Amino acid sequence: MTENKKNNVPWFKRKFIGLKNQQPKEIPDGLWLKCESCGEIIYRKELARNLWVCSICGYHFRIEAKNYLDFLIDGGTFQEFDAEIASTDPLNFVDSKKYTDRLQQTANKTGAKSAIITGIGDIDSIQTSCGFMEFKFIGGSMGSALGEKVTRAIERAVERQIPLVMVSASGGARMQESILSLMQMAKTGTALTKLHEARLPFISILTNPTTAGVMASYASLGDIILSEPGALLGFAGPRVIQQTIGAELPKGFQSAEFVLEHGFVDLITPRDKLKTTIASLLRYLIECPQGNMPQTIP
Ligand SMILES: [Zn+2]
Repeated sequence: MTENKKNNVPWFKRKFIGLKNQQPKEIPDGLWLKCESCGEIIYRKELARNLWVCSICGYHFRIEAKNYLDFLIDGGTFQEFDAEIASTDPLNFVDSKKYTDRLQQTANKTGAKSAIITGIGDIDSIQTSCGFMEFKFIGGSMGSALGEKVTRAIERAVERQIPLVMVSASGGARMQESILSLMQMAKTGTALTKLHEARLPFISILTNPTTAGVMASYASLGDIILSEPGALLGFAGPRVIQQTIGAELPKGFQSAEFVLEHGFVDLITPRDKLKTTIASLLRYLIECPQGNMPQTIP
Protein backbone atom coordinates (compact mmCIF):
# COMPACT_ATOMS: atom_id res chain seq x y z
CA MET A 1 0.00 0.00 0.00
CA THR A 2 1.43 3.39 -0.91
CA GLU A 3 1.84 6.02 1.77
CA ASN A 4 -0.82 8.11 0.09
CA LYS A 5 -3.35 5.28 -0.09
CA LYS A 6 -2.67 4.22 3.47
CA ASN A 7 -3.42 7.69 4.81
CA ASN A 8 -6.18 8.64 2.45
CA VAL A 9 -8.84 6.26 3.79
CA PRO A 10 -12.17 6.81 1.99
CA TRP A 11 -14.25 6.74 5.19
CA PHE A 12 -16.59 9.43 4.02
CA LYS A 13 -17.11 8.47 0.39
CA ARG A 14 -20.72 9.01 -0.69
CA LYS A 15 -22.70 6.08 -2.04
CA PHE A 16 -25.23 8.34 -3.74
CA ILE A 17 -23.99 11.29 -5.74
CA GLY A 18 -26.02 14.51 -5.51
CA LEU A 19 -27.23 14.16 -1.92
CA LYS A 20 -27.52 17.55 -0.26
CA ASN A 21 -26.08 18.27 3.13
CA GLN A 22 -28.65 19.00 5.83
CA GLN A 23 -28.83 22.64 6.76
CA PRO A 24 -26.78 23.28 9.88
CA LYS A 25 -29.00 23.72 12.92
CA GLU A 26 -26.98 26.57 14.32
CA ILE A 27 -28.72 29.89 14.81
CA PRO A 28 -28.50 31.93 11.58
CA ASP A 29 -27.75 35.65 11.41
CA GLY A 30 -30.47 38.28 11.03
CA LEU A 31 -32.87 40.34 13.12
CA TRP A 32 -35.73 37.90 12.63
CA LEU A 33 -35.57 34.12 12.82
CA LYS A 34 -37.97 31.40 11.81
CA CYS A 35 -38.72 28.72 14.40
CA GLU A 36 -37.62 25.39 12.96
CA SER A 37 -40.52 23.62 14.63
CA CYS A 38 -43.64 25.82 14.31
CA GLY A 39 -42.48 28.22 11.59
CA GLU A 40 -43.23 31.33 13.67
CA ILE A 41 -41.13 34.40 12.84
CA ILE A 42 -39.47 35.58 16.05
CA TYR A 43 -37.50 38.72 16.88
CA ARG A 44 -33.92 37.72 17.59
CA LYS A 45 -33.55 39.80 20.78
CA GLU A 46 -36.79 38.35 22.13
CA LEU A 47 -35.51 34.83 21.44
CA ALA A 48 -32.18 35.59 23.13
CA ARG A 49 -34.07 36.93 26.18
CA ASN A 50 -36.00 33.66 26.22
CA LEU A 51 -32.73 31.64 26.28
CA TRP A 52 -33.25 30.70 22.61
CA VAL A 53 -36.51 28.87 23.24
CA CYS A 54 -39.51 29.54 20.97
CA SER A 55 -42.19 31.24 23.06
CA ILE A 56 -44.93 29.77 20.83
CA CYS A 57 -44.06 26.06 20.71
CA GLY A 58 -41.19 25.65 23.18
CA TYR A 59 -38.68 24.52 20.55
CA HIS A 60 -35.14 24.67 21.96
CA PHE A 61 -32.71 26.16 19.45
CA ARG A 62 -29.20 24.73 19.57
CA ILE A 63 -26.92 27.11 21.46
CA GLU A 64 -23.20 27.33 22.13
CA ALA A 65 -21.20 26.10 25.11
CA LYS A 66 -20.59 29.67 26.26
CA ASN A 67 -24.37 30.37 26.28
CA TYR A 68 -24.91 27.50 28.72
CA LEU A 69 -21.99 28.73 30.80
CA ASP A 70 -23.48 32.24 30.89
CA PHE A 71 -26.92 31.29 32.14
CA LEU A 72 -26.00 28.36 34.40
CA ILE A 73 -22.95 29.75 36.20
CA ASP A 74 -23.21 32.68 38.62
CA GLY A 75 -21.67 35.82 37.13
CA GLY A 76 -17.97 36.33 37.88
CA THR A 77 -17.43 32.91 39.48
CA PHE A 78 -16.19 30.91 36.50
CA GLN A 79 -12.53 30.03 36.23
CA GLU A 80 -11.54 28.15 33.11
CA PHE A 81 -8.97 25.33 33.23
CA ASP A 82 -7.00 23.50 30.53
CA ALA A 83 -8.04 25.83 27.69
CA GLU A 84 -4.71 25.13 25.98
CA ILE A 85 -5.25 21.36 25.64
CA ALA A 86 -5.64 20.45 21.97
CA SER A 87 -5.68 17.25 19.93
CA THR A 88 -2.62 16.22 17.97
CA ASP A 89 -2.65 13.97 14.91
CA PRO A 90 -0.56 10.88 15.71
CA LEU A 91 -2.29 8.84 12.99
CA ASN A 92 -1.60 11.45 10.26
CA PHE A 93 -5.24 11.08 9.35
CA VAL A 94 -6.64 12.40 6.09
CA ASP A 95 -10.30 12.19 5.07
CA SER A 96 -11.65 14.87 2.76
CA LYS A 97 -8.90 17.06 4.25
CA LYS A 98 -5.96 16.66 6.61
CA TYR A 99 -7.02 16.31 10.24
CA THR A 100 -4.48 18.94 11.28
CA ASP A 101 -6.06 21.39 8.80
CA ARG A 102 -9.54 20.52 10.06
CA LEU A 103 -8.45 21.19 13.65
CA GLN A 104 -6.83 24.49 12.71
CA GLN A 105 -9.83 25.68 10.67
CA THR A 106 -12.22 24.73 13.49
CA ALA A 107 -10.03 26.52 16.02
CA ASN A 108 -10.07 29.65 13.83
CA LYS A 109 -13.86 29.46 13.46
CA THR A 110 -14.72 28.78 17.10
CA GLY A 111 -11.82 30.42 18.93
CA ALA A 112 -11.41 27.21 20.94
CA LYS A 113 -8.88 24.39 20.89
CA SER A 114 -11.22 21.55 21.79
CA ALA A 115 -14.92 20.68 21.87
CA ILE A 116 -15.42 21.49 25.54
CA ILE A 117 -14.98 24.35 28.02
CA THR A 118 -14.15 23.11 31.53
CA GLY A 119 -13.54 24.85 34.82
CA ILE A 120 -14.83 25.70 38.26
CA GLY A 121 -17.92 27.83 38.75
CA ASP A 122 -20.84 28.39 41.12
CA ILE A 123 -24.39 27.32 40.35
CA ASP A 124 -26.65 29.30 42.69
CA SER A 125 -23.67 29.70 45.08
CA ILE A 126 -22.75 25.98 45.00
CA GLN A 127 -19.22 25.52 43.73
CA THR A 128 -19.01 22.90 40.97
CA SER A 129 -16.49 21.44 38.60
CA CYS A 130 -18.26 21.90 35.28
CA GLY A 131 -17.96 21.28 31.55
CA PHE A 132 -19.84 22.60 28.53
CA MET A 133 -19.53 20.81 25.21
CA GLU A 134 -19.38 22.76 21.95
CA PHE A 135 -21.20 21.09 19.07
CA LYS A 136 -19.70 23.55 16.59
CA PHE A 137 -16.28 22.03 17.23
CA ILE A 138 -16.31 19.04 14.82
CA GLY A 139 -19.79 17.99 15.94
CA GLY A 140 -18.81 17.98 19.63
CA SER A 141 -16.90 14.80 18.93
CA MET A 142 -14.85 13.14 21.66
CA GLY A 143 -11.19 13.15 20.79
CA SER A 144 -8.23 12.72 23.12
CA ALA A 145 -8.19 16.42 24.10
CA LEU A 146 -11.84 16.37 25.12
CA GLY A 147 -11.38 13.09 27.01
CA GLU A 148 -8.41 14.53 28.90
CA LYS A 149 -10.32 17.71 29.80
CA VAL A 150 -13.36 15.77 31.01
CA THR A 151 -11.12 13.48 33.07
CA ARG A 152 -9.33 16.45 34.62
CA ALA A 153 -12.69 18.07 35.41
CA ILE A 154 -13.75 14.88 37.22
CA GLU A 155 -10.44 14.69 39.11
CA ARG A 156 -10.77 18.37 40.02
CA ALA A 157 -14.17 17.62 41.57
CA VAL A 158 -12.61 14.82 43.64
CA GLU A 159 -9.62 16.94 44.72
CA ARG A 160 -11.80 19.85 45.80
CA GLN A 161 -14.67 17.68 47.09
CA ILE A 162 -17.24 19.48 44.94
CA PRO A 163 -20.00 18.18 42.63
CA LEU A 164 -19.58 17.65 38.90
CA VAL A 165 -21.97 19.13 36.30
CA MET A 166 -21.57 18.40 32.61
CA VAL A 167 -23.59 19.75 29.67
CA SER A 168 -23.22 17.40 26.70
CA ALA A 169 -23.79 17.95 22.97
CA SER A 170 -22.10 15.47 20.72
CA GLY A 171 -22.26 13.41 17.59
CA GLY A 172 -19.96 10.82 19.20
CA ALA A 173 -16.39 9.69 18.77
CA ARG A 174 -13.80 11.65 16.79
CA MET A 175 -13.41 9.42 13.70
CA GLN A 176 -10.07 10.99 12.86
CA GLU A 177 -8.55 9.77 16.13
CA SER A 178 -9.79 6.20 15.76
CA ILE A 179 -8.89 3.99 18.75
CA LEU A 180 -7.49 6.97 20.68
CA SER A 181 -10.97 8.45 20.63
CA LEU A 182 -12.60 5.22 21.78
CA MET A 183 -10.15 4.97 24.69
CA GLN A 184 -11.66 8.17 26.10
CA MET A 185 -14.81 6.21 26.94
CA ALA A 186 -12.89 3.94 29.33
CA LYS A 187 -10.78 6.81 30.63
CA THR A 188 -13.71 9.07 31.56
CA GLY A 189 -15.69 6.13 32.95
CA THR A 190 -12.80 5.11 35.20
CA ALA A 191 -12.40 8.67 36.46
CA LEU A 192 -16.11 8.74 37.32
CA THR A 193 -15.62 5.65 39.50
CA LYS A 194 -13.30 7.75 41.67
CA LEU A 195 -15.98 10.44 41.91
CA HIS A 196 -18.52 7.81 42.93
CA GLU A 197 -16.16 6.39 45.56
CA ALA A 198 -15.69 9.90 46.92
CA ARG A 199 -19.52 10.07 47.19
CA LEU A 200 -19.70 13.25 45.17
CA PRO A 201 -22.70 13.90 42.91
CA PHE A 202 -22.55 14.09 39.12
CA ILE A 203 -25.40 15.75 37.26
CA SER A 204 -25.32 15.08 33.54
CA ILE A 205 -27.31 17.37 31.25
CA LEU A 206 -28.10 16.11 27.76
CA THR A 207 -28.83 18.60 24.98
CA ASN A 208 -29.69 18.16 21.34
CA PRO A 209 -28.01 15.94 20.18
CA THR A 210 -26.16 13.70 22.63
CA THR A 211 -25.25 10.48 20.89
CA ALA A 212 -22.78 7.65 20.31
CA GLY A 213 -19.46 7.57 22.24
CA VAL A 214 -20.30 10.45 24.57
CA MET A 215 -23.78 9.07 25.32
CA ALA A 216 -22.25 5.61 25.81
CA SER A 217 -19.71 6.91 28.32
CA TYR A 218 -19.79 9.80 30.79
CA ALA A 219 -23.02 11.47 29.59
CA SER A 220 -25.07 8.44 30.65
CA LEU A 221 -23.18 7.88 33.90
CA GLY A 222 -24.69 10.80 35.82
CA ASP A 223 -26.18 10.14 39.25
CA ILE A 224 -29.01 12.22 37.86
CA ILE A 225 -29.49 12.66 34.13
CA LEU A 226 -31.44 15.67 32.86
CA SER A 227 -32.36 16.38 29.27
CA GLU A 228 -33.64 19.39 27.42
CA PRO A 229 -37.04 18.80 25.73
CA GLY A 230 -36.97 17.32 22.25
CA ALA A 231 -33.27 16.40 22.35
CA LEU A 232 -32.06 13.57 20.11
CA LEU A 233 -30.49 10.99 22.41
CA GLY A 234 -29.07 7.67 21.35
CA PHE A 235 -26.14 5.55 20.33
CA ALA A 236 -26.25 4.54 16.68
CA GLY A 237 -28.52 6.08 14.04
CA PRO A 238 -31.94 4.47 13.45
CA ARG A 239 -30.98 2.93 10.09
CA VAL A 240 -27.98 1.11 11.57
CA ILE A 241 -30.04 -0.24 14.48
CA GLN A 242 -32.84 -1.34 12.17
CA GLN A 243 -30.39 -3.21 9.95
CA THR A 244 -28.71 -4.83 12.97
CA ILE A 245 -31.77 -6.07 14.85
CA GLY A 246 -33.97 -6.54 11.80
CA ALA A 247 -37.06 -5.02 13.45
CA GLU A 248 -39.18 -1.90 12.97
CA LEU A 249 -38.33 0.81 15.45
CA PRO A 250 -41.03 2.76 17.29
CA LYS A 251 -41.60 6.34 16.15
CA GLY A 252 -39.49 8.93 17.95
CA PHE A 253 -37.58 6.26 19.88
CA GLN A 254 -34.50 8.47 20.20
CA SER A 255 -36.27 11.54 21.55
CA ALA A 256 -35.72 12.69 25.13
CA GLU A 257 -39.42 12.10 25.83
CA PHE A 258 -39.30 8.45 24.66
CA VAL A 259 -36.07 7.80 26.53
CA LEU A 260 -37.57 9.31 29.72
CA GLU A 261 -40.53 6.92 29.50
CA HIS A 262 -38.08 4.02 29.34
CA GLY A 263 -36.08 5.15 32.34
CA PHE A 264 -32.86 6.29 30.74
CA VAL A 265 -33.33 9.95 31.63
CA ASP A 266 -34.53 11.12 35.04
CA LEU A 267 -36.07 14.47 34.17
CA ILE A 268 -36.80 16.59 31.12
CA THR A 269 -36.10 20.16 32.10
CA PRO A 270 -36.86 23.21 29.97
CA ARG A 271 -33.89 25.54 29.58
CA ASP A 272 -35.33 28.29 31.78
CA LYS A 273 -35.71 25.83 34.69
CA LEU A 274 -32.32 24.17 34.24
CA LYS A 275 -30.33 26.27 36.69
CA THR A 276 -32.86 26.15 39.53
CA THR A 277 -33.37 22.40 39.00
CA ILE A 278 -29.63 21.66 39.07
CA ALA A 279 -29.18 23.82 42.18
CA SER A 280 -32.09 22.12 44.00
CA LEU A 281 -30.81 18.66 43.10
CA LEU A 282 -27.29 19.51 44.20
CA ARG A 283 -28.60 20.79 47.53
CA TYR A 284 -30.55 17.58 48.08
CA LEU A 285 -27.56 15.46 47.16
CA ILE A 286 -25.08 17.41 49.25
CA GLU A 287 -27.35 17.70 52.27
CA CYS A 288 -28.53 14.08 52.07
CA PRO A 289 -25.30 12.23 51.14
CA GLN A 290 -26.50 8.92 52.57
CA GLY A 291 -29.15 8.60 49.91
CA ASN A 292 -32.07 9.87 52.00
CA MET A 293 -33.53 11.74 49.04
CA PRO A 294 -36.72 13.66 49.74
CA GLN A 295 -39.69 12.34 47.79
CA THR A 296 -40.42 15.63 46.04
CA ILE A 297 -38.09 16.71 43.29
CA PRO A 298 -38.73 20.05 41.59
ZN1 LIG B 1 -41.82 27.47 17.54
